[in-house]
Amino acid sequence: MSHTINPGSTIGVLGGGQLGRMFAMAARRLGYRVHTFAPEHDTPTGQIADAEIVAPYDDLDRIRDFAKGVDVITFEFENVPAEAVAAAEPFALVRPSGEALEIAQHRLREKRFLTSSGIPVAPYVEVRTDEDLIAGVAQLGLPCVLKTAALGYDGKGQVTIGPGVDPLAAWQQLGRQEAVLETFVDLEREISVIGARGIDGQMSFFEPFENVHANHILDVTIAPAGIRINLAADALEITRLILDELEYVGLLCVEFFVTRRGRLLVNELAPRPHNSGHLTFDACRTSQFEQQLRAICGFPLGGTELIQPAAMVNLLGDLWTDGEPNWRRALAMPDMKLHLYGKSTPRPGRKMGHITVMSPTAHEARERALAARNLLRVRGAEDRR
Ligand code: AMP
Repeated sequence: MSHTINPGSTIGVLGGGQLGRMFAMAARRLGYRVHTFAPEHDTPTGQIADAEIVAPYDDLDRIRDFAKGVDVITFEFENVPAEAVAAAEPFALVRPSGEALEIAQHRLREKRFLTSSGIPVAPYVEVRTDEDLIAGVAQLGLPCVLKTAALGYDGKGQVTIGPGVDPLAAWQQLGRQEAVLETFVDLEREISVIGARGIDGQMSFFEPFENVHANHILDVTIAPAGIRINLAADALEITRLILDELEYVGLLCVEFFVTRRGRLLVNELAPRPHNSGHLTFDACRTSQFEQQLRAICGFPLGGTELIQPAAMVNLLGDLWTDGEPNWRRALAMPDMKLHLYGKSTPRPGRKMGHITVMSPTAHEARERALAARNLLRVRGAEDRR
């Protein structure tokens, strides 16, 4: 029988954001202790964890001490240096492995891995020199998207190159770092599949979620996605292949583009819980966070059924521009579930929380969730009692 990490043990989370916060909630519900490591103090994860270690990720002595104090380490943030993971590995189990992390944190390694596994991605070229870029633009045509290979998320570190845009100036804007240039995909929609693989190779998948972005940041997710059954099956199959190929242990999100011709292209891998899976917290038999916990602790994976169609809308810091959001109005909606991440400084584009609504149809859930968010914007003295 495989070794399990039982309730009462301590889980280490690298990263301090909302993904770690919701993971810590799930872990504590099952009687685990949680330690978190991040460069900032009073983080969303730290507020829920038993212990918050504040140090930079490249402080390898602190990483080693952290690893000695936990039974298994997992991630809520993938841009942790490889040296930090290597420093932790002699002292604690690290799940998913450093290898999976290295692939997922670098767009070129990710694309090479996917391509060599026979998984379709948007046509791309690798950019390291001016000549690569000029030849790449000529090869792919316009428009195309230039993305830094490392440290990109939520549309940060990417520029669309259309007619009239100087590719070299665009690259300059990204700091002339190693980059990937890819075709701008004519999207029908975007979907994501969240899958988990246990230490015995058992796998489990949430049915695809459908995602709508605003300014490159996820705005709305609905479940189930409005796609044909065989497209959903193909997306699950690709996720299964990736998990197996990486001998992955833990939770992985695969983001897909669905082209207007009905083709699936993998956009990105996230080796951790994902924003599009937040609705699983309220709307699925097992949340993505509990699933991550089960996978890394060596337990059977939980049921992933959607209890009812659902929608999630993100609450960004922009909502605070004109003052405190109108919690009273929104909370008067009996079917809305409000999640806030404990962040004290709202900034435009910063993820502060989300709303989930479950309804008889995904369309209705989306309308209700958007309505709830609009209520947060209602201004009026009578609402502020
Ligand atoms: P990413 O950081 O790569 O996940 O990109 C963020 C969002 O930008 C994606 O979810 C898409 O909405 C959009 N995007 C990124 N790359 C492309 C592309 N090659 N074609 C069309 N849209 C894209």
